[in-house]
Amino acid sequence: MVKEKTLKEEVSFEGVGIHTGEKSKVILFPEEEGTGIRFFKEGVFIPASYEFVVNTNHSTDLGREGKVIKTVEHILSVLHLLGVTNLTIEVKGEEIPIMDGSGWEFYKVLKNLTLEQDKEAEIFKVEEMVEVFKENSYIRAMPSEELEITYEGEFNNFLGRREFTFRRGREEDIVLARTFCFDWEIEFIKKAGLGKGGSLENTLVMGKEKVYNPDGLRYEDEPVRHKVFDILGDLYLLGKPFVGRVYSFRGGHSINYELVKRLAEFEKSQRISVEKAPQYTT
Ligand code: UDP
Ligand code: ZN
Repeated sequence: MVKEKTLKEEVSFEGVGIHTGEKSKVILFPEEEGTGIRFFKEGVFIPASYEFVVNTNHSTDLGREGKVIKTVEHILSVLHLLGVTNLTIEVKGEEIPIMDGSGWEFYKVLKNLTLEQDKEAEIFKVEEMVEVFKENSYIRAMPSEELEITYEGEFNNFLGRREFTFRRGREEDIVLARTFCFDWEIEFIKKAGLGKGGSLENTLVMGKEKVYNPDGLRYEDEPVRHKVFDILGDLYLLGKPFVGRVYSFRGGHSINYELVKRLAEFEKSQRISVEKAPQYTT
């Protein structure tokens, strides 16, 4: 039985936003059982739910009543990995700080601060296979008793085809994997007004045959590990820790979001059909 969790104390992180290039600060406040994970910006609460997604192009952004918070996926992935279910994340700025591009800065602090609560946590369990095809990418979720996330990438550089599978207990296999990009797409990203805060300090930058970061790769398959980490962040927008088996081929935030919406809709339709079941009287 898994219990709900919050943090033992308030904690904050500061840094630059990878897309806006602006400094921002997040303050994490412990919350009571049943609160869920929610963001707070300038007087507005935004639940960490797929219902508030406003963008999935190069990051997952949430918005409500004109307030937008960019790039929520990494902090959500860390909270998902740690099983933190009740928290308010106040955001002072436009975006969640990118830190070193991975989940590590959040993970290393938060893992020592989790606090188990009394209530049993609700889990999101996949009941039936759901699959999404989008251009040249694919993702599916299947029922399973365990959490298992596989990403298969196909890259147009020295990486070639790579696959990585995450299972519980192996959190440190993915929390250090950084966000990445290729040298040939930087111009396009900048023209779209994105990546203003991107640098070798927070992004793994690769060319056809080389890595630009002086210290190289953290794992030889770092990009696919990061993609698994991203999926865990996007899945947490279901509002509950996820149990099931996911396989993604070349997926990104947009297809992750499509999967999450369909999983949530399927769950809702199941609930409605039970509620609407005919009442027999004798
Ligand atoms: N990419 C790739 N092979 C893959 C997955 C991604 O070449 O299997 C490329 C993708 O074309 C893009 C970059 O990696 O240039 C970042 O991926 P994506 O745009 O999916 O990232 P996201 O939208 O999730 O940030
Ligand atoms: Zn990411």
